Amino acid sequence: HAKSQGANRYLFFNDSMNKLAVKRLQVENLIRHGLKENYFSVYYQPKMDIISGTLVGMEALVRFITPKGGLISPASFIPVAEETGQIIEIGEVVLRQACRDVKTWLDQNLFHGRVAVNLSSRQFSLPFLCEQIDDILQQTELPSYHLELEITEGTVMQSPPQAIETMKKLRARGIHLAMDDFGTGYSSLAYLKQFPLNTLKIDKAFIDDMNTARGRNMVDTIVTIAHNLSLTVVAEGVEQAEQLDMLRKLRCEVIQGYYYSKPLSATDFADFLRLQKIQRSKTHSAAVLS
Ligand code: C2E
Ligand code: MG
Ligand code: MG
Ligand code: MG
Repeated sequence: HAKSQGANRYLFFNDSMNKLAVKRLQVENLIRHGLKENYFSVYYQPKMDIISGTLVGMEALVRFITPKGGLISPASFIPVAEETGQIIEIGEVVLRQACRDVKTWLDQNLFHGRVAVNLSSRQFSLPFLCEQIDDILQQTELPSYHLELEITEGTVMQSPPQAIETMKKLRARGIHLAMDDFGTGYSSLAYLKQFPLNTLKIDKAFIDDMNTARGRNMVDTIVTIAHNLSLTVVAEGVEQAEQLDMLRKLRCEVIQGYYYSKPLSATDFADFLRLQKIQRSKTHSAAVLS
């Protein structure tokens, strides 16, 4: 069969535009298959208080686990999923799993904070977004207090007035909102102050630039803007102790990055939580005994 189409195929695959289309179609099929077979899994990356070094929360990050146990990063499938709309279903799977996991850790007295889940613009603009979130929170029995949603500038700038409405509805439920990848998009300061946000996440690109004076000034400026808007600042992609020191001096509150931990599977993250708990009780008994 393949042989009989050989000549056509050759032409087909030789065209770079078609190659791209084929690649996209393959990814789309892989995603569809993955959704059917539950190949999507949620990893968690700790967010740490920059002063105390204790855990304040975590970000849920989707992974595609192949049948052989391989791990496919979202960078290679999220863009396609955005285009095809499959991101809506992936997002629902991630949100439900994150709520389920956090409920478990709450019940085990391992965690009391918030889990941050990324929302794509396709999800954010769903007319039934709030109802869907309500349903998931109800089904998983997770109080809305424990949920934070991360959205990007691109998402909210598509239609700022509508975005503000949606954000207000989410905030009214006690859900926190974070602006992700801040500084890489096109949001204006005029809008930034109107968005009912709780947190601003500085994109890794700015943290990478902190080895230059210009780069440090830039981060300083972003932190100042955030604080003027009463937002908590999270630095993303912190890898080095020097970056952490500089961020502490700039009064950034929370850091997330390989310096503390890469994103972990739910099992590994639960171990991380247990370790944190042991350290907390040690610090506590030390304080009591001293
Ligand atoms: P993001 O939301 O900005 O997530 C942070 C990304 O930075 C994650 O990449 C994380 O693994 C990576 N990261 C954190 N610390 C470090 C570090 O110290 N060094 C380096 N090199 N990287 C670090 P990841 O998990 O590959 O996700 C990439 C992007 O894919 C996310 O960026 C987000 O935009 C998207 N994404 C991931 N999961 C979901 C999801 O469930 N739904 C949606 N809509 N998007 C998702
Ligand atoms: Mg994020
Ligand atoms: Mg980010
Ligand atoms: Mg990012």
